[in-house]
Amino acid sequence: MPPALHPYKPPSWAAHLTPPKLRTALAIGAPTPITPWSVPGLPAGVELWIKRDDFTGVELSGNKVRKLEFLMADAVDRGHDSVVTIGGIQSNHCRATAVAARMFGLEPHLILRIPEKTHTDTDKPSAGLTGNLLVDRLMDSRLWLVSKAEYRHHGSEKLLDMVVSQLRQQGKNPYKIPVGGSNALGTWGYIEMVRELEQQLAADPLGITDIVIACGSGGSLAGTALGCHLSPQMGDVRVHGICVCDNEGYFFNHIDTKIYPGMGHVDGPMSRSLVSLVEAAGLGYGISRPEELDTIATVAKATGVILDPVYSGKAVHALLRCLREEPRRFRGSRILFVHTGGLLGMYEKAPQLERLLPEEHSTHYLLPIAETKNHGTDKERTSSN
Ligand SMILES: *Cc1c(COP(=O)(O)O)cnc(C)c1O
Repeated sequence: MPPALHPYKPPSWAAHLTPPKLRTALAIGAPTPITPWSVPGLPAGVELWIKRDDFTGVELSGNKVRKLEFLMADAVDRGHDSVVTIGGIQSNHCRATAVAARMFGLEPHLILRIPEKTHTDTDKPSAGLTGNLLVDRLMDSRLWLVSKAEYRHHGSEKLLDMVVSQLRQQGKNPYKIPVGGSNALGTWGYIEMVRELEQQLAADPLGITDIVIACGSGGSLAGTALGCHLSPQMGDVRVHGICVCDNEGYFFNHIDTKIYPGMGHVDGPMSRSLVSLVEAAGLGYGISRPEELDTIATVAKATGVILDPVYSGKAVHALLRCLREEPRRFRGSRILFVHTGGLLGMYEKAPQLERLLPEEHSTHYLLPIAETKNHGTDKERTSSN
């Protein structure tokens, strides 16, 4: 049985917007835990908590699960038989959508941006099987590969339309989901995250002054910012987005023109007054600098939390830099970082990460332990157990 669809009732403070009619419960990990997080390099006096949105569910789908609760409900309600979405070759969103689609018996079609067109007449392009790709393939997703140059030329919306019309010609009825699931409908997932946070903080007031979240296609940030603005309880919290691609101007414009109007947020403050953005793309989307990977390795060893290289790792790296260099950017010193997931993206970075790990021979031991003279015989040791 696929998950059921339920009528959706928005928080009272969001009821004046244009809320979706239906939702499906996919986030089995919600409410996601909030725990104190002593990351090395935090300046004195700053307290940090982490909200584990990497634990939402749907096979490690992180923040995308909250969006898919609304997007999948809509797709199923409208009677679609397939889903088309688009992203980078290691897209967490595409992989999350493929899993969710299969939960509802829909056929996933993923348009993936590949570094270079590798095909010739005889040689079809290959996406490989690393990280998210392995899951895409296990879900028997249909992959539509597009070179970076073609992607730039056509843009994601046109590419989605091309595949949609192709599938319609084949008699299918595809449901279209934009990059990152970040349209108005998907963004309701992060209005709901704010409602969840209200309840958690009412039960355990932590005095949070700032929320920090990675931003890739804008929906998670836009929902969090609008929710915090509208919620009387969260109104004093300042929301920060760490941009892992594009720039400030792009995201303010994207949120104001592509996300908020469809949610019914038309005459309130625009995104510029609701969020503070930090540009942290570094070498570019999906490309890691050694110091960013170093932050991931340091945080893993010190706290047992794994950040992903594309989003949360860059975000924490930039957060620590801001706390050092621009402490006044934050409203106060009690900060909540939302971990958005992305674990499977780590596997693509294995060769780069390997250089940061201790030499194998310094941490690897071979069993059984070599006998030395004074340890007695095996028989004696066994009998003393
Ligand atoms: C997609 C994604 C983000 C960015 O969220 P948006 O809503 O697209 O801005 C952050 N972290 C991870 C791990 C993601 O997969």
